Amino acid sequence: MLAIGECMAELAPLDRPGDYHLGFAGDTFNTAWYLARLRPDVTVSFLTAIGTDSLSQKMRAAIAEAGIDDSHIRTLPERTVGLYLISLDRGERSFTYWRGQSAARHLADDPEALARAIEAADLVYFSGITLAILEREARDRLLGTLRRAREAGKRVAFDPNLRPRLWTGPEEMTETVMRGASVSDIALPSFEDEALWFGDADPEATADRYRAASVETVIVKNGADPVHFRHGATGGTVAVPPLSEVVDTTAAGDSFNAAILAGLDGEEAMPALILRACRLAGIVVRGKGALVPFVPASLAD
Ligand code: AMP
Repeated sequence: MLAIGECMAELAPLDRPGDYHLGFAGDTFNTAWYLARLRPDVTVSFLTAIGTDSLSQKMRAAIAEAGIDDSHIRTLPERTVGLYLISLDRGERSFTYWRGQSAARHLADDPEALARAIEAADLVYFSGITLAILEREARDRLLGTLRRAREAGKRVAFDPNLRPRLWTGPEEMTETVMRGASVSDIALPSFEDEALWFGDADPEATADRYRAASVETVIVKNGADPVHFRHGATGGTVAVPPLSEVVDTTAAGDSFNAAILAGLDGEEAMPALILRACRLAGIVVRGKGALVPFVPASLAD
């Protein structure tokens, strides 16, 4: 399994004002992190680009330490990784980003390396954020390579992860995200964002739109509300187990996606797989930060 995207350095506030903890996170990386724990029997790789400075080296070490294969990471000596800082104001988190110049923007610049990484995988995962950070030419290259991989029988999974601030405007975002969908077998959108930017009246409308873009399996997340799915000729809804408390929803969708991808090659029916994904996301929203340790056996019935 290969995840493609950006991992960033994260500075999260500690109890004493002015003290921060350095961590690493980013949507597709978070999914790779959960996947590596859910499927220790599978090689989970992460394709990105980093620098050669010590922060980049720390990131690579963190990726490898998580059991994620780092052999498809590009190294660009003149660049470094993106960074974000979390501020806490009476329990509300806000984020400040420094990612405009990050090395990850060049993750798809080497066509041979990109093709090699995708060739080595059975399942490739990317997101709307992956597309947003790339220059137009690199974006086209990534989408073209994924299209060919899909035609050659590989599975391609996509989370639209709509982040308007990363795009020049909403039209560029919605148009490019649907191009991402058109090369994908599996789409994992979140209804709240889709309703806002595509005007979908309900999760069925979201599922219809992705199915019309040739996606075979669509799973529409919707916070605490039921998950809607279409999978081949089947479809339905799965209720999300209620939680007594929600601490931090960071990476809820990323972990949910990991549990779905981890079970795609198994025997489990889609509703059972979705329920398991909800259980993992439920653990993640009850913990702090993007990467919440968990025991895979605790997700079983
Ligand atoms: P989202 O991307 O926000 O729609 O959330 C992804 C998944 O995280 C959902 O499908 C749920 O399984 C879980 N989740 C998010 N928010 C909540 C919540 N308030 N209560 C229970 N589960 C949640």
